Amino acid sequence: MGELRSALEETVVTAVRAKRDELIALTRELVAYDTTAREIGDPARDEERLQRSLVARLTAIGAEIDLWEPPATGRGNRLLPDDLDFVGRPQLAARLGGSGGGPSLLLNGHIDAVSVEPRELWTHDPFAGEIDGRRLYGRGAADMKGGIAAMIVALDVLYEREVRLAGDIVVCTVTDEESSGAGGWAAVDRGVRADAGFATEPTDFDAWVACRGTVCPTITIPGRAGHAEAPQPDWREGGAVNAIEKLPLVLDALAELREDWRARADHRHALLSPGDIVPTVVRGGDWSVTIPAWCDLQCDAMFLPAGIDATADASVIEREIRERVDAHVRARDPWFEDHPLRWAWDSYVLPAEIAADHPLVEIVLAAAAALGRPGKVAGLDSWHDAATFTRFGGTPCFSFGGGALATAHAVDEYTEIDELVDVAAAVALAAMRYCVAT
Ligand SMILES: [Zn+2]
Repeated sequence: MGELRSALEETVVTAVRAKRDELIALTRELVAYDTTAREIGDPARDEERLQRSLVARLTAIGAEIDLWEPPATGRGNRLLPDDLDFVGRPQLAARLGGSGGGPSLLLNGHIDAVSVEPRELWTHDPFAGEIDGRRLYGRGAADMKGGIAAMIVALDVLYEREVRLAGDIVVCTVTDEESSGAGGWAAVDRGVRADAGFATEPTDFDAWVACRGTVCPTITIPGRAGHAEAPQPDWREGGAVNAIEKLPLVLDALAELREDWRARADHRHALLSPGDIVPTVVRGGDWSVTIPAWCDLQCDAMFLPAGIDATADASVIEREIRERVDAHVRARDPWFEDHPLRWAWDSYVLPAEIAADHPLVEIVLAAAAALGRPGKVAGLDSWHDAATFTRFGGTPCFSFGGGALATAHAVDEYTEIDELVDVAAAVALAAMRYCVAT
């Protein structure tokens, strides 16, 4: 499978390699825009400047541009945080029209990147795109501004070499992948579609065809306040109850649930780890000399494609977590009979998967192999925008890109420049092989 198939393919790969410096320059430019993922309420950063730079490049190669600020999310859609606005955070969809009669290809990328903290530990400026040897350093270099630069350079080459494709190419760059997935959702809601697609995430040249979903409960453990240095009667006689001291019981319940999921067949998947539930944030108490009346525990619970019902929501998994933990603590501590745990749930993301032998998956892996980058069909234990396009946009979508995944989200994130060049070449080849007249 791993060979270039025509003189034209060789010409295109050579042309991509000749654009190495342009690819580096574009990646550095994208890294320099501060598009750090937001906390709710943060003002926009450089999202619009970044998108407008891509608009200029895509316009120059003849793309039809749609750059828009989606309406605020409102309330009631569990897939989205409440009242999230997109002021200053436009989404971009650009269509390069084919000659007709061939399948269309979506190339997706997220322009947000995670926080640079703890910044003092970086040995490279996270926004400078410094080159050190064969590596380009910076926040988002791997995840995934390098991947976005690679797809733009691939399309530049196809344009300059006048490679005429039958199918359209849709380039989509969105915000908010690292937080809620709201940008990808906005694109699907806008009608961004193709016959199939991929996102140039850092996959180490594998094709991530499946991902887990996530629900995030905040569990509030109720207590009863009282003076920490005064004797307390039994809680049944009105004495204080220390909410923080109840925390181990809840942690035990979560550990038991996790073990159960690991043992259960419906939590097994050929490409994904079993479901898991990880306590991630704990807060509690009001004063150093007051018995704490509350303790909040936030969790990150990941689940498999089987863990949702036919209407594609996460209520099945949410109900299971809640019922299991409630029953566990009630059975062991009578306090909880009349003082139940309180539950709040963030917006969730849903798992998705596409066929491992989808034609585009095979084309992309063969193209990578032809460039000396053999990869395999794999899964992503976390989540990616591809799930939104697959599940809600009628566009079977996966992730494929360069390596250095281990440096994504980490201090001194980098991308190998050689890998980036090969991602760009693989994107060009994939378009040539997929968007052909049928
Ligand atoms: Zn990513």
